[in-house]
Amino acid sequence: LPFDQRDGVIWFDGEMVAWADAKLHVLTHGLHYASAVFEGERAYGGRIFKLDEHTRRLRASAEILGFDIPYSVEDINRACEEVLAANHLVDGYVRPIAWRGSEMMGVSAQHNSIHLAIAAWEWPSYFDPAQRLKGIRLDLAQWRRPDPATAPAKSKAAGLYMICTLSKHAAERKGYADALMLDWRGYVAEATGANVFFVKDGVIHTPTPDCFLDGITRRTVIDLARRRGYELIERHIMPEEMNDLSECFICGTAAEVTPVSEIGPYGFVPGEITKTLMEDYLAEVQPRAEMSPMAASA
Ligand code: PMP
Repeated sequence: LPFDQRDGVIWFDGEMVAWADAKLHVLTHGLHYASAVFEGERAYGGRIFKLDEHTRRLRASAEILGFDIPYSVEDINRACEEVLAANHLVDGYVRPIAWRGSEMMGVSAQHNSIHLAIAAWEWPSYFDPAQRLKGIRLDLAQWRRPDPATAPAKSKAAGLYMICTLSKHAAERKGYADALMLDWRGYVAEATGANVFFVKDGVIHTPTPDCFLDGITRRTVIDLARRRGYELIERHIMPEEMNDLSECFICGTAAEVTPVSEIGPYGFVPGEITKTLMEDYLAEVQPRAEMSPMAASA
């Protein structure tokens, strides 16, 4: 079913509205000038993993674009939980999005109202589960992550996804699952919706997030790797170095930890570290008994 025709409800500017009625006017600034920021969150066993961090990043993304979301962190957290429950989802994906409205049409939008909507749906696996275990294949994208002096790289801004969609479409046309983007200097940056890690001689290497999203999953994986005692280095990585890197995986809220078998001409074999971190991540996201409100009040 197309995304605008599903059953269920969407939280829209403070109210639950029927899914099919969550509509905007075509002269919305967010549509014409990409003045929109969003989040992607996953719920496991009824709990949204790192919800507070996602909500804070959403508000920070908006601030970078010069607007203030008119709801507090607590209000947004509650709304995300309510949307999940109202759609009878225990495991699901949550998508809050904030945008500038339609009061002014033109580059300037100083007096436009700010809107927030939150939807939730089932999204079991971002990549084909059959492919996922042996590793997915990535294309090397033609588009590069821009210099932070060129675009607000730290904001999860809709406009920054233009090059992601271009790269992903080009990859899919060639039969790849996704694409790896380099940055404006030519260093390895990230996939179109996930961060990237490599392994060489038991050491984990990941690009320094100085011009792309420092993902919440990325930070979780770094934390899990350190807890395991693995050595981990954040540094600039040149694409040719991938010749010598033996394991590769990407990670993100939707992608979770997904092994990679190929990036353009470079090959990888999912190994012990990738498998361990994949399992550790899936264990980490599960709600623990002491976290549930029921347990807390008992
Ligand atoms: N990079 C990009 C471009 C993304 O869209 C995402 C997904 N939000 C990530 C990285 C990973 O971020 P996170 O782990 O916070 O989902």
